Amino acid sequence: MCKNVIKGARDMTDTTFQEETIIRTSGSHNCGGRCIVKAHVKDGRIVRITSDDERPDTDKRPQLRGCLRCRAYRSYLYHEDRLKYPMKRIGKRGEGLFERISWEEALDTIADHTKRIMAEYGPEAIYLSYATGNAGKTSEQVWMRRLLALYGGYLDYYGTYSSACTNAATPYTYGTVNSGSSREDWVNSKLIILMGFNPAATIHGTNTAYYLKKAKEAGAKIICIDPLYSDTAVALADQWIPIRPTTDSALLDAMAYVIITENLQDQVFLDTYCLGFDEDHMPEGIPAGNSYKSYILGTGTDQVPKTPAWAERSTGIPREIIIQLAREYALNKPGALIQGFGPQRHAYGEQPPRSGAALAAMTGNIGIKGGWASGCGSPCRKQYVGSIPINNPCKAAISMYMWPLAIQKGTELGKREGVRGVDKLSANIKLIFNLAGNCLINQHSDTNGTAELLGDENLAQFIVVSDHFLTSSAKFADILLPGDNFMEREDIVLPWSAGDYVLFMNKAVDTVYECRNGYDWIRDLAERLELTAEFTQGKTLEDWLRFIVDETRKENPGFPSYEEFKEKGVYDWEYEEPAIAFKEQIEDPRHHPFPTPSGKIEFFSSRLWELDKPAEVPAIPKYIPAWEGPEDPLRGTYPLQCIGHHTKRRVHSMFDNNDWMEEAEAQVFWISIYDAKKRGIKNGERVCIYNTRGKVILTAKVTPRIMPGVISIPQGGWWSPDKEGTDQRGCINTLTKYQPTPLAFANPQHTNLVEVAKLDQMEAEK
Ligand code: SF4
Repeated sequence: MCKNVIKGARDMTDTTFQEETIIRTSGSHNCGGRCIVKAHVKDGRIVRITSDDERPDTDKRPQLRGCLRCRAYRSYLYHEDRLKYPMKRIGKRGEGLFERISWEEALDTIADHTKRIMAEYGPEAIYLSYATGNAGKTSEQVWMRRLLALYGGYLDYYGTYSSACTNAATPYTYGTVNSGSSREDWVNSKLIILMGFNPAATIHGTNTAYYLKKAKEAGAKIICIDPLYSDTAVALADQWIPIRPTTDSALLDAMAYVIITENLQDQVFLDTYCLGFDEDHMPEGIPAGNSYKSYILGTGTDQVPKTPAWAERSTGIPREIIIQLAREYALNKPGALIQGFGPQRHAYGEQPPRSGAALAAMTGNIGIKGGWASGCGSPCRKQYVGSIPINNPCKAAISMYMWPLAIQKGTELGKREGVRGVDKLSANIKLIFNLAGNCLINQHSDTNGTAELLGDENLAQFIVVSDHFLTSSAKFADILLPGDNFMEREDIVLPWSAGDYVLFMNKAVDTVYECRNGYDWIRDLAERLELTAEFTQGKTLEDWLRFIVDETRKENPGFPSYEEFKEKGVYDWEYEEPAIAFKEQIEDPRHHPFPTPSGKIEFFSSRLWELDKPAEVPAIPKYIPAWEGPEDPLRGTYPLQCIGHHTKRRVHSMFDNNDWMEEAEAQVFWISIYDAKKRGIKNGERVCIYNTRGKVILTAKVTPRIMPGVISIPQGGWWSPDKEGTDQRGCINTLTKYQPTPLAFANPQHTNLVEVAKLDQMEAEK
């Protein structure tokens, strides 16, 4: 084990000077970052947690310093509510009543149900739910996939609750999601526009906020477009432009209108690299009037010019500001229009990534230093790291958001509902493994509706959950298993999105009570399915980690040995220059076409045209007014748009029960001074937020940091319904609607209309 003994280090627990052992590891949860986390261990307990403070800290390679969440991990690790033993359900499903059982009984029961359901319904009835509490290369998800693949297969999913729409949409423009340059290139930008992008809280790659700060120091102007005056805007923005949720494409359309009508577009770039911008560059056979330019100028099918005045009505942004923004972006080249994941998590979330990419193309900001191609922005530079082999013989996959429909009517779902790999599903979901995730209830839409669905044991017949705490999702388990956490295991973990490095996670402390590592218990499950030899190949967990390093070394000869990697805890790939997305395509288009069907940047996608769903999935990017958006007549009853922002105190729902984090940032919702005053609501007052789907009681933060007409509930609060079903903790999904988006079949969780009322008023109306 990698141990650095620091003599005379200060023990913060008893104020005497003791020896500590420092173990290097990293968080492996879905937090937006990956940092070096150092656990200071004394007498088998972690006494404090620090971060990367030894390695050289340079502009090219800043230290991987952690945020408050891993630093506060002791309060999570030693929490008295930690799950300690395997348990079986004794109450109604979802009630949260369990009794302790042995691991033998738990695994025997799981094996029996797996055998029965596989025999009765086949592999498409077995579903591994989307779960990101452990993103390590040898997580329990990985092992369960491997085992089920060997046992006959399982229904897979694609997409993520974070970025499904942009992942689905961006390739229709660029042929890939990898439209992001290296972040260190931002120092070359004159202007940076951040749309719904708040890395000060979401991290979005360790050090992303740092790179933005360096860009600002180098002279870049930073503009934040967001319904909230976010922490990133507070720290870095020269200008904050509040925008109504779901209307980003309307703003981008109007910017395009200004650029075109003032002839500010880079016409040479458009003529050289793009398809579908204007009527002279359309695919054959498409009727006139369907180009992007025709749509923007209102000379196409809808005959509506997308003027700044038109966009003002939807977005709430004054037309003068839209004109200013368009001119600044067109005239201050190179400029980076960077989109976060918030703008694409709505009813028509496929549109903003393509609208942003259209603007980047119009201004010629693609493939150049200081530019940014917009869209998904996943890094264009990737490194290979080995993986555990999984060969799922079942080819069926659904969008990660479609599982409730696959429980209810899986056999009716086919390609039109986003099913991949098969024409139609052959079974409804009957068995769910939810391992280190809270998307069964908490992070999924419409908690009340989902709870009712999962409560029906005739539908999903058996649910296995592994976690650290009795989360909202864990309450729906039939068998509940106590997992280990990242301080208690060894693993290898990749950066969350951006970063040219990989981390080794050393085990800091022993696992407590009867909590077990995923490999450990899934191997025992393999034995019950008579697959031990195939599953383990005779390997221990350490052997598998060595296997991953060996596979990595085959592709990267400079990669260190297992021992060296483990000792250092991190390996950095070295590059002379930042990577620029699509540089080759722009510099040498003949030899490097874009990976689209046409080889061009596709304003117009023939693939989308052929889907023949123009109102919801247009062939060119368009603003489509959202249901429960600012233009929905339902605003007469529910006048406030409700979104759910990420905070620096949680990793989605993880750490909601960490008291230290509650102290750092309490669970309160944001409401504007204007909207609060109109309802007589005071700062710090507990009020009711409601719509037809549910009610939430939560404390109000009355603030000028949110635009009027919008409220925001920090996403991730654990759903805690009282006897009447009113959530007492502030889980936004009590209010969200279950309605998949039209192309990605994804979660539109920022699309909600609600009303807010004082509690005495609610009582009076009962
Ligand atoms: S929570 Fe994520 S970003 Fe924060 S310290 Fe841990 S690994 Fe880094």
